Amino acid sequence: MRLRFWGVRGSVPTPGPATLEFGGNTPCLELQGAGEDVILFDAGTGIRPAGIDLLARAAGRPLRIHLLLSHFHWDHIQGLPFFTPLFRSNSHITIYSSGFSAALSEALHGQMSAPYFPVPFASVAARVDLVELGSRTATIGSVSVTPVEVNHPQGACAYSVESDGVRFLYAPDREHGDARLDAVLQEAARGATVFVSDAQYTPEEYEAHRGWGHTTWAESARVAREAQVKSLVLFSHDPSHSDELLRRIEKDARREFADTFVAKEGWEFEL
Ligand SMILES: [Zn+2]
Repeated sequence: MRLRFWGVRGSVPTPGPATLEFGGNTPCLELQGAGEDVILFDAGTGIRPAGIDLLARAAGRPLRIHLLLSHFHWDHIQGLPFFTPLFRSNSHITIYSSGFSAALSEALHGQMSAPYFPVPFASVAARVDLVELGSRTATIGSVSVTPVEVNHPQGACAYSVESDGVRFLYAPDREHGDARLDAVLQEAARGATVFVSDAQYTPEEYEAHRGWGHTTWAESARVAREAQVKSLVLFSHDPSHSDELLRRIEKDARREFADTFVAKEGWEFEL
């Protein structure tokens, strides 16, 4: 299996010369090689190129897609109205959420309603099923996916994903500092093959952004070390972070946790 990073940026898309290397699309991650079904995490603007690629790979065959949403902040759903498989009648898309943020149906219909978008969510051509997991595990072929509550304004989840003895934890948006939820995350990360972690801020930037719902690369490295994960992937880069700064962050983070990588758009990570 491998992870394909379609979007790695937090908050808002950041096209431009300063982000060419790491990319400017907001979160979307694909788990590849786990069977015929497509498994995607979050629907930031990275899901638009993902959809184009999926249709090309399917070459006219029906697509069976599972999309797991961590929460409904714009940067995690804003690509969905531009996800081409949604407008194909031979797509079957199941969209999942956890019980730790808002109601799934209202959020998705809401963003594709007047005056925000011309095509109502109810009228898309694909067959769409909505599943609110609460804290239950979803089984998709050989893959099991379990929501894990995280500390984030208005609620969000991480997903603990397991298949054939390989486990990764996808925790795109979270802030440290809540003792109960810090312990929950630490436990979920324990022994993971890969920990994809919010690293929006540098430790210096964090002080001015306390309570905004994000953590730092240093805190992510601390969790990775204590949970003895194999690899740490820093994710949800701040819109103000240039390629140059992200390269520096990777260097700094590797001093704290050697197997650290800064997520890069288009990158494939073997599990
Ligand atoms: Zn968020």
